[in-house]
Amino acid sequence: MNAAAFPLAAREAETKSGTVVQIGEAAVGGTEVVLVAGPCSVESPEQLRAAARAARAAGATILRGGAFKPRTSPYSFQGLGEEGLALLRAVGDETGLPVVTEALEPAQVPLVAAYADAIQIGSRNMHVTPLLRAVAAAGLPVLLKRGMSATLEEFLLAAETILLAGNERVVLCERGIRTFDSYTRNCLDVGGIAALKQLTHLPVVADPSHATGRRELVVATALASVAAGADGLMVEAHPDPASARSDADQQLSPEELVDLAERMRKVARAIGRS
Ligand code: PEP
Ligand code: MN
Repeated sequence: MNAAAFPLAAREAETKSGTVVQIGEAAVGGTEVVLVAGPCSVESPEQLRAAARAARAAGATILRGGAFKPRTSPYSFQGLGEEGLALLRAVGDETGLPVVTEALEPAQVPLVAAYADAIQIGSRNMHVTPLLRAVAAAGLPVLLKRGMSATLEEFLLAAETILLAGNERVVLCERGIRTFDSYTRNCLDVGGIAALKQLTHLPVVADPSHATGRRELVVATALASVAAGADGLMVEAHPDPASARSDADQQLSPEELVDLAERMRKVARAIGRS
C-alpha cells in the first residue's frame, strides 16, 4: 500500500501518538477504550430510554441508535426519521450521553447535524463521495464505517476525503467484511484493526455486532478487537433484543452488555489501557 496516497490520514511515525477525537466526554483514541452502545434502531421513547440507561449502567460514554436506517430490503423497517433524531437528542440529554446516528444522503446531513453529536456514515455509503464531503462540512465528528467490500486502502481514502474537505475529526469503524462464509453475517477483520493502527493516526473502533450478526459471538470478537488495538467498541444493545425491529439476532441484552463491558476493561488493562 502506498501511504503517500493518503497524506492526511497516514501515520507519520509509529512513535507519534494518535489523534484523539472528542465526542462529549468520550476521548476516542486516548488511553481509555471507549464503549459506544445502543439499539440498532430507535423504536420508541421507552425503548430508547431503557437502552440508554443500560448503556450508561454498563459504562458506555456514547449512545448509538439509527433514525434513518440503511436497509438492504425496502420492506424492512426504515427507521423513525426525524422523530427518531429528536428522541435521540432528548434521551441523550436526559442521560448525559452524546449521540451518534447515521445520515444516509447529503441532503439529510444538516438535519442529522442539528440533533446529533457525531454523524455516522454506514458501510453501504462509505464510497459515496458527495456524502463524505457533506458530513465533512457539517463540522461534527464523523464515525466512518468500512464498506463491506472495501480494502483498507479504499477505507483510508474515504477518510482522506473527509480530512481533505476540512474535517479532522474522523473515527474509523471496522464492522466486518464480506467473505465466502455465511455462518457469520460478515467477517471481522481483526488483522485489519491492527493494520489500521499502524497505517493511520486516526482512532479505530470495532463493531462486533454487524461483524458477526450473532449475539453469542459479539463478546469474543469485541475482546479480540480490543486486544488488537481498537480504541473503542460500538455494540448494539436493546432492552428486549427479541422484540427489536431490526437486527434482533445480534443485539445484546442489558445484562450481556454489562458482562461485555467488564470483560472489555480486563482486556484493556492487560494491554496497558484503561
Ligand atoms: C449501523 O451501525 O446502524 C449499521 C447499519 O451498520 P453498517 O453500516 O455497518 O451495516
Ligand atoms: Mn444494526
